[in-house]
Amino acid sequence: MKVTEIIKKSLDGGELSVEEIAALFCVPLFSDESGLVLAASRRKSEAASEGSAEIHGQVGMNIAPCPKNCKFCAFAAVNGVFQDKKELPLEEVIQRAKNFERDGANAVFLMATGDYPFAKFAERSREVRRALQPDTIMIANVGDFSYDEAKTLKEAGYAGVYHAVRLGEGKDTSIPVERRMETIRHAKEVGLRVGTCLEPVGTEHSIQELVEKTVITREIRPAYSGAARRIPLPGTSLAAHGIVSEARMAHILAVVRLALGYDTPANCTHEPNVAGAAAGANLFWAESGSNPRDTHEETDAQRGMTTKICRVYFEEAEWNTLSGPSRFYREHSYTQNKIG
Ligand code: SF4
Repeated sequence: MKVTEIIKKSLDGGELSVEEIAALFCVPLFSDESGLVLAASRRKSEAASEGSAEIHGQVGMNIAPCPKNCKFCAFAAVNGVFQDKKELPLEEVIQRAKNFERDGANAVFLMATGDYPFAKFAERSREVRRALQPDTIMIANVGDFSYDEAKTLKEAGYAGVYHAVRLGEGKDTSIPVERRMETIRHAKEVGLRVGTCLEPVGTEHSIQELVEKTVITREIRPAYSGAARRIPLPGTSLAAHGIVSEARMAHILAVVRLALGYDTPANCTHEPNVAGAAAGANLFWAESGSNPRDTHEETDAQRGMTTKICRVYFEEAEWNTLSGPSRFYREHSYTQNKIG
């Protein structure tokens, strides 16, 4: 099938086959056809989200040498970036969450490392929930959890979670793919909406793996998918592969957008950039505290961006940014208008 026909099928609401997704990933950058892919992705993003982009703010609560050893992560014990366990005092977590709320973030994420005690995460979450406005959307970004723990997250006041089957899962991490999928199932079973992503994309990943993981994100029927690149951490084994350019990431996130249906309103990319937003990314993250892609304990004023910078990037890419609580994490808040 020609690229133009694949694009039309996607815009008409058809589900692309693995061969069709692979064909889109194979389109050369800066070719006429690549331009069509980027334009179609942008149009589909605007239709699926009714023209609104969102900025979510994440508070990284702790740093630790994490035994899960995901090789792309600054917290992986094997990478030796952080030797000691440290965490923000609860009052500081609350203050930073409130700062995101004040600055107009559409949702507030709390993130902890994969080895962080679940009960403590839940307890802190309840305190943060009490301190925020009742309509502020809270999202958990934590390690794998059981069905009962999913219920606890829901009861603590979360609307959803971020969770992904990462590229290289089970090979560059010690976590089996099935464990990640199980956690996603638990979240959905208790009514937590799931956001996910094709990440962390490296230069060495094959088209086959990009397609395979894109299809996994589609099968989740998530609030959003998208694509994010891996940040090389100096001195780590994966750093030798370098970094995927923002131009290539724009093409990759555009293909992911076209591979997912209109029932997924959003398409994320990280870190925030104008090229990605122009190509159809409509969800960015601002960050405070710890960050798995940063070698500084505090990502503020380092790799982490503010809500203000994210908003400027969206403006530069001609997106309107939503005011008020996130719609991406609320089911049935879109009419799912199709284009094409
Ligand atoms: S990605 Fe999560 S589970 Fe993996 S090493 Fe980092 S903190 Fe641990």
